Amino acid sequence: MAAYALIVAAGKGVRAGGGVPKQYRPILGQPLLCRSIASLAQLDGIQTVISPDGEADYEAAIAHLPDHIKAKLLPHVFGGTTRQQSVLNGLNALKSHEPDYVFIHDAARPFVPQDALERLLNALQSHIGAIAALPVADSLKRGADCIEDDVDRTGLWRAQTPQAFRFKDILSAHLNAAADGRDDFTDDAGVARAYGHDVAFVRGDETIFKVTEPQDFARAEAHIMQHLNDTRTGQGFDVHRLIPADHMWLCGVKIDGTLGLEGHSDADAGLHALTDAILGAIGEGDIGQHFPPTDPKWKGARSDAFLAHAVQLVHDMGGIISHCDITLICERPKIGPHRPAMQARVAEILNVRHNRVSIKATTTEKLGFTGRGEGLAALAIATIRLPWCDNM
Ligand code: MG
Repeated sequence: MAAYALIVAAGKGVRAGGGVPKQYRPILGQPLLCRSIASLAQLDGIQTVISPDGEADYEAAIAHLPDHIKAKLLPHVFGGTTRQQSVLNGLNALKSHEPDYVFIHDAARPFVPQDALERLLNALQSHIGAIAALPVADSLKRGADCIEDDVDRTGLWRAQTPQAFRFKDILSAHLNAAADGRDDFTDDAGVARAYGHDVAFVRGDETIFKVTEPQDFARAEAHIMQHLNDTRTGQGFDVHRLIPADHMWLCGVKIDGTLGLEGHSDADAGLHALTDAILGAIGEGDIGQHFPPTDPKWKGARSDAFLAHAVQLVHDMGGIISHCDITLICERPKIGPHRPAMQARVAEILNVRHNRVSIKATTTEKLGFTGRGEGLAALAIATIRLPWCDNM
């Protein structure tokens, strides 16, 4: 039985603030939409529906996804002027894949526990549709400034997504609604019921909350942090020979002058040490294993690609980079004037805020190879946080 996800991400999401639509805003370095996609990645395929205005944001966002999830993404389709039209566009696109089931999900709900998906799937054995929902626990009141009425909460539920359906039935219900010119449904369960299908409740989860207001981003970050309780530290060290040249690359910044660094790649000792520190923290060997200096492919390579690879490995494990500290050891060049640019560039590659990156410099009082100006050394420490997992 094939079960596909349909993720509706065509909204403008302006209430959350922040300039870009909320589905593309990062939560701890990963766009909200990517987290929603990842939460449904155990299904057989994922159809996204986006706004034509958001196509560039979408392409940039999904670049963050690990390969095994990217492989499940079907080509995106564009939404309509209402959520209902967007869902119908997505369902039409899924037709050729002949799904048995479809799980229709809001992009703004980044966390879906796997057991909620299993409850939905089980419910579809005996129902046309099923939705994740929670019984209302608070007392309900109606009114504007003052309470005008008490509302009986007995039998009331808060509807979440995913809302799961047998594919053919929800497609025909949506087609009928479109043919009838009805666009007043707030969710897909409403469409299904209007065309005669029963829809069951399954127990939802408080973690399937919708990110709507600015403070919901903080809540989402707190939710992730709660599970990132495996704190790791890695160290890195690198040296490259100083040679006469008109520029060098150091911590991702081009420094013009009379000195260069000798090496197979761009010889950016700062980024090499940091890449090794991150690889060390996740037990992934060292930079030479991932990018062998014997491989002509890496001749002259820019080291920001090496670092970005290490960062991607951390993200693939569901982790974040908490902090890094780089110490550059040399008499020349003077690091001070370049420090802000280095901090900004490293933060950009790591996709973290500036204050999570430290760049320091020291000399060795003219002692040793760095003191004699023969070479430049770099030390780095990286702290990362991963979800605790003994199988990892
Ligand atoms: Mg090196």
